Amino acid sequence: MVKNQSHVRLDIYEALSEVCDPEIPVLTIDDLGVLRSVEFVSNEWVISITPTYSGCPAMNMIEANIRIAMAALHIENYRIERVLSPAWTTDWMSEEGRLKLEQYGIAPPNPDRNNNPVRCPICKSDSVDEISAFGSTACKSLWKCNKCLEPFDYFKCH
Ligand SMILES: [Zn+2]
Repeated sequence: MVKNQSHVRLDIYEALSEVCDPEIPVLTIDDLGVLRSVEFVSNEWVISITPTYSGCPAMNMIEANIRIAMAALHIENYRIERVLSPAWTTDWMSEEGRLKLEQYGIAPPNPDRNNNPVRCPICKSDSVDEISAFGSTACKSLWKCNKCLEPFDYFKCH
């Protein structure tokens, strides 16, 4: 029995929604908004992904994991397209993604920092200071909480 295309598309989307970001393993590429679309174009599946920021080596890992997921589905006629424009923005991160990030101990990106400043992901205190513009990776900055005194990463806005 041949499955129709919309079912296959759902299967692909579901499988790819489980591919995680290698730097923040609690987030999937779907949570991040990195997975843009899955389309069938002239006899092949086109998987469009947008890197979170240019030069992020995590993208190679993500592509490798997409290939593994596609191999598990026994689909060979596909290509992965990196879409650089429009550029990825932290606004694409899902609400669920932001929640998971905070539970993981990283302050989620806050597009509205003036009205709603960075808060400590551990004790939720607003009394926090930036220690370094660069955290464990280039997309994060290092902060310290003045209440619980714990250092934490903040996922920078782009
Ligand atoms: Zn704290």
